[in-house]
Amino acid sequence: MAMLLNFGSYENPTGDEDPGFARFKRVYPRKEAWLDARREWRKLRPDAHMQELIMQALEWQMQQASWQEDGGKWIPRADKWIRGGRWLDEPPAEQPAKLDWFAECREMHGGACGLSQQVHHTRKILDAGRQAK
Ligand SMILES: [Zn+2]
Repeated sequence: MAMLLNFGSYENPTGDEDPGFARFKRVYPRKEAWLDARREWRKLRPDAHMQELIMQALEWQMQQASWQEDGGKWIPRADKWIRGGRWLDEPPAEQPAKLDWFAECREMHGGACGLSQQVHHTRKILDAGRQAK
C-alpha cells in the first residue's frame, strides 16, 4: 500500500508538484500516460505564456468533433500531444457554436468553471435556483 501512496493521488497521480503540469493534467481529457506526458512537459519547460497558449488551444480542441466522438478515442495521448506541439494547431476558421458556453462562462463566472462544460452548466442551474428563491 505504501507504494501506492507514494504514487500520488487521483488529482496528482504521478506525485508531480509542477503546478503548470498539474493544471494541464486536470484539463487534458485523455487521462493516460502521465509519466510520459510529464517527461515531455519537462523537456518542453513551458513558461507562463506558453502554458496559456496550451490552455487556450485545449479550450477549442476539446470541442472538436473528433475529440468528442467514440468516447474520446481519437484524442491523442497527452505525451504525443505535447511532443507534437499540438497547441500550435490552428482552430477551424468557423468557431463551432459549442464554444459559446465558454464565452458565457467568462461573462457569468469569470471562467471559474475551468474547461468543464458540465461544471459550468451545473453552476448555471444552481445559480438559477438561487435567484428563483
Ligand atoms: Zn461557468
